[in-house]
Amino acid sequence: MANDNLLNIPMLLINSATYTPYFARFMSTPAAGGLAAIETKRIAQVTDALSAGLEQDQIAETGQFYAMLLIFQGHDGIDEGDKAAAVARLLKWKEQYNGTFVEETMERCLGALNNDRGEMGYIIKGVKVMLEAPLTKCGGGKGVCRRSMDDGQEPLSKCSRCKTSVYCGAPHQQAGWKEHKPLCFAPAF
Ligand SMILES: [Zn+2]
Ligand SMILES: [Zn+2]
Repeated sequence: MANDNLLNIPMLLINSATYTPYFARFMSTPAAGGLAAIETKRIAQVTDALSAGLEQDQIAETGQFYAMLLIFQGHDGIDEGDKAAAVARLLKWKEQYNGTFVEETMERCLGALNNDRGEMGYIIKGVKVMLEAPLTKCGGGKGVCRRSMDDGQEPLSKCSRCKTSVYCGAPHQQAGWKEHKPLCFAPAF
């Protein structure tokens, strides 16, 4: 497939993982080192022919993922040649998909690469809310339980295994288990 080298299965999986608290913890370990540099090289190597074979959604997902990597890792260790070529590609996509979600994600990437504090602050705030959500609101009975960490009542208790989900009590932990189970494991980092 034409898009194999840009959005392959491992990259799609990692992109999904960026939306979990585990990812933020993983990104601070040596094992995650260099991911932003690797993705920069991949984007730098996208040709017009390869780009033409990509769906709009795939480009948006690439941009979203790349922005997350840049936020977590910065761009200090990235090869300057790769960075210049990647910026050129991001600008092409931004122009090509003007007025769509692609343009938005490209602006995030370019903002991160240019140390645009306004753009970065906006993204970091969003990421923080996303990562903290499971740690501040009862994860049982979605849409039913309104207990949160700062309502002044008894503190919510954390899932003892993963510590990335909180509950008001055993009944809601049980109610939320089916949804939480696929995300629950004791991380090695
Ligand atoms: Zn609850
Ligand atoms: Zn858990």
